[in-house]
Amino acid sequence: MVPVIALVGRPNVGKSTLFNRLTRSRDALVADFPGLTRDRHYGDGRIGDKPYLVIDTGGFEPIRTEGIVKEMTGQAQLAITESDVVLFLVDGRAGLTPQDQRIAQNLRESGKKTYLVVNKAEGLTETAKAEFYELALGEPYTISAAHGEGVKALMDLVLEPFPTEKEIDEEEDFKHKIKVAIAGRPNAGKSTLINALIGEDRLIAFDMPGTTRDAIEVEFQYKDRDYTLIDTAGLRRKGKVFEAIEKFSVIKTLQAIESSNVVVLLLDAHAGIAEQDANIAGYILESGRALVVGVNKWDSLDDYERRRVKEELERKLHFLRWAKIVYISALEKRGLHHLLNAVNDAHTAAFMKLSTPKLTRALIEATTRQLPPRAGGGRPKMRYAHQGGQNPPVIVVHGNALQDVPESYRRYLEGWFRDKFKLEGTPLRIEFRTNK
Ligand code: GDP
Ligand code: GDP
Repeated sequence: MVPVIALVGRPNVGKSTLFNRLTRSRDALVADFPGLTRDRHYGDGRIGDKPYLVIDTGGFEPIRTEGIVKEMTGQAQLAITESDVVLFLVDGRAGLTPQDQRIAQNLRESGKKTYLVVNKAEGLTETAKAEFYELALGEPYTISAAHGEGVKALMDLVLEPFPTEKEIDEEEDFKHKIKVAIAGRPNAGKSTLINALIGEDRLIAFDMPGTTRDAIEVEFQYKDRDYTLIDTAGLRRKGKVFEAIEKFSVIKTLQAIESSNVVVLLLDAHAGIAEQDANIAGYILESGRALVVGVNKWDSLDDYERRRVKEELERKLHFLRWAKIVYISALEKRGLHHLLNAVNDAHTAAFMKLSTPKLTRALIEATTRQLPPRAGGGRPKMRYAHQGGQNPPVIVVHGNALQDVPESYRRYLEGWFRDKFKLEGTPLRIEFRTNK
């Protein structure tokens, strides 16, 4: 699975600056969707061919109990427990503080692989890091999060033992099986759905609980295709059935999303759409995975309530317009075949092969119909397009003066390609590569 890196340290050492640097690449893609609540604590990124997840534990406000600010919240502790690696940041300009000492002790006790990172080190001499040896966390690494110095070298070291994207894909058999993660908040009906799917006559489930970090994987076939269901968060196997456990883990959810091809976002129609649902939708969008929205417990609503839920979906999840919405009842096993067909379609769209001539033809049609607006130096000229990736499909547009193409025009092209190639159920990324 994709490694999880937790950023730990007292306030003001530069955690969020480093977080932004490590996750920046995808930031711009989702920043301007109105209605999408972006979670600033969790992000994903990639250096070279190595993907990772990052958690900024500083985003979790310490709780003030009886006048004493606790060093770390339960959430931050949980983040450390569930991470693979901790980057412990200290401030090279401020020097060592008692608070650093306390956090260091906590980290030493956790036994977690920890890198001691001396930030704000731009222009400082090597001696600035000497005092931090005292923390007994090994060699201090100096970086400047703000200026980007030393970050790549540090991350190369941190990511060294972890697999490349390609290795993860191979390890997870991406090409042969459809990996489906079912994500949703507690009580949405995830375990009921998984049990219903496994119990379904036309599905053949193989008894194969996974072993990595509590993850549960179930293999099954449907219409001659192989699927792997990935446990998202808070499910445990009990005998032959799956049961929900109380805790919801963002980290497990993110990992499951990252290791899937298609995510089913399960919503509880009875309870309505909550902020947590929008958050999970945001993670999925950012990951680029294909998506099907499953609106569960449809059986429990009358006609009036059903209309109301549909309006609510329209209003709150409009940024997922390209995703198919399937109304189901996991309890009564209704709509499950629709759901799986939608998963299939989304998977097909996510892995569609788009040839350069076809893309270029569609691009020229689009730009003839509506010219890219004149901006800055002159009118952008789009010449050809090629496919830069799958799951999600990436379309790379080449030409001149493309640096000033406005977001609205990018959206226009996205809609155009989506219609042209029937790319339903998958996010689509358009990138511009300019010759000048
Ligand atoms: P956090 O509270 O740990 O998340 O810290 P922030 O990322 O908010 O940074 C705290 C302050 O330190 C901000 O004013 C940053 O601009 C500054 N800062 C962060 N990284 C660096 C750095 O590498 N060099 C310098 N000089 N300042 C930095
Ligand atoms: P999880 O926490 O997401 O795994 O949710 P569960 O599968 O444990 O379901 C939570 C509750 O919702 C349980 O009481 C289920 O019986 C109920 N439930 C699940 N699916 C449905 C459904 O389709 N219709 C109705 N009416 N209730 C459901």
